[in-house]
Amino acid sequence: METLANFINGKYCPPVNQRYIDNMEPATGLVYGQIPNSDADDLELAITAAEMALPAWRELALEQRADILVKIAQGIEDNLDKLALAEAIDNGKPISLAKSIDIPRAASNFKFFAHACSQFASEAHAMTNSAINYTLRQPIGIVGCISPWNLPLYLFTWKIAPALAAGNCVIAKPSEVTPKTAYLLGEICQQAGLPKGVLNILHGTGKNIGSVICAHPKVKAISFTGGTKTGAAIASQVASQFKKLSLELGGKNPALIFADCDFDSTLNEVFRASFANQGQICLCSSRLYIEHSVYDKFKAALVEKAKALIPQDPLLENSKMGAIVSLDHLNKIKHSIEQAKQAGGTILCGGEQVQLTGRCTQGYFLQPTLIENLANDALCNQEEIFGPMITLQPFDNDKQALTLANDSQYGLAATVWTNNLTRAHHFAEQLHTGIVWINCWLLRDLRTPFGGMKHSGLGREGGNEAMRFFTETKNVCIKY
Ligand code: NDP
Repeated sequence: METLANFINGKYCPPVNQRYIDNMEPATGLVYGQIPNSDADDLELAITAAEMALPAWRELALEQRADILVKIAQGIEDNLDKLALAEAIDNGKPISLAKSIDIPRAASNFKFFAHACSQFASEAHAMTNSAINYTLRQPIGIVGCISPWNLPLYLFTWKIAPALAAGNCVIAKPSEVTPKTAYLLGEICQQAGLPKGVLNILHGTGKNIGSVICAHPKVKAISFTGGTKTGAAIASQVASQFKKLSLELGGKNPALIFADCDFDSTLNEVFRASFANQGQICLCSSRLYIEHSVYDKFKAALVEKAKALIPQDPLLENSKMGAIVSLDHLNKIKHSIEQAKQAGGTILCGGEQVQLTGRCTQGYFLQPTLIENLANDALCNQEEIFGPMITLQPFDNDKQALTLANDSQYGLAATVWTNNLTRAHHFAEQLHTGIVWINCWLLRDLRTPFGGMKHSGLGREGGNEAMRFFTETKNVCIKY
């Protein structure tokens, strides 16, 4: 049984209150470790450390800052196997996914923002024959980064890397459900020479430490990724302090599949977009709208593929589908499946919990589930479920497809599958989402703005958007 510790002022330390919470392995349903149940006292230690570290970190030459971030990226790469194993145990995701996507991307985040900080430029505005303005973008100070459980190290570093690159000191909290890789990151930062106090990692619940980080007056900006409800609570909590706030929230992403698409590649990519990471990626497609003339053919092919996707121990190298992250989350998805049945939905495949044998007998496994015959206003088509449960609906024409896709409180990402260029542009323009992928899914360029509209968030991350978020903007006007 492993006991994790907070990372404050460059070293690991137990929570001041000596309280811990259990860490579960979703594939076995068993407790396998303990994590600090941190509170305001731990935060005070972290704030003091960050305040001490800030002047030197913000003044450090950009090349030196970049150099340290590159070394952190290298440390992540050097520990690929260890981190991937930790992620698969903590989260239940297939180890092959952690090795090929999660951990390499965490390293890329640091590499990307190491370069971004040395390339980041600001604007100048000349006034004819009288003055020149230039914009300073300065570090904010101490910032808070709070991340969810679905892509633990990937999203944790997606926030921390730009925050550090911009010259801030960071207080970060990973999800209590998946703390292990964030814990391991502390040691990697130590070895990379990150000065003590620049990054402080506190473990614990949203209630006991997450909300305390958000409320602290010395934490000047919050970058949060998680559920829409939590995002709303944080927004109202920090409103009176006028903190900078970036919110990356839930999604209910439509996929629009037209008869003129490349059938085989669309099928493969839509399948991946539906069930990758057990459907627990904010960008996963969960509402499939399929043109009538190809509906039956596409449905049959999708069902065949879903039936062949068997949940397995995520630690097996050939596992393609792992465990649902927690018992609570499994029960939430099962409840949504029941709701779908009661609303008249037809279960095309899946819908049942799976009991594996051996070490995974008590794990949280669920069959990939496809459902049709639900109205667009059914709860399962409107609420984020965040699991391997996908609905299918036919449409007759472009207008109807667009109306159905936009009929949602969420606006994170959409995919469009067509070979009609005019239609592709039209949909790109008309969809109410922050991201539109045409004939692809999750094809990421870290320079691009990332985030959602409506209840899917506020602000954008990625590239210069992130560097701007993590800096304070000041205009300087010089008359001559
Ligand atoms: P939650 O909103 O429950 O939690 C996210 C993080 O916030 C966790 O670290 C959590 O801690 C913490 N937290 C909870 N309550 C508070 C609070 N009052 N103040 C401060 N922090 C708090 O989300 P999940 O972890 O369940 O993640 C799944 C959600 O994340 C889905 O809705 C998904 O769509 C969304 N998401 C969005 C992405 C995007 O880019 N738009 C990307 C990935 C996921 P604790 O673990 O203790 O609850």
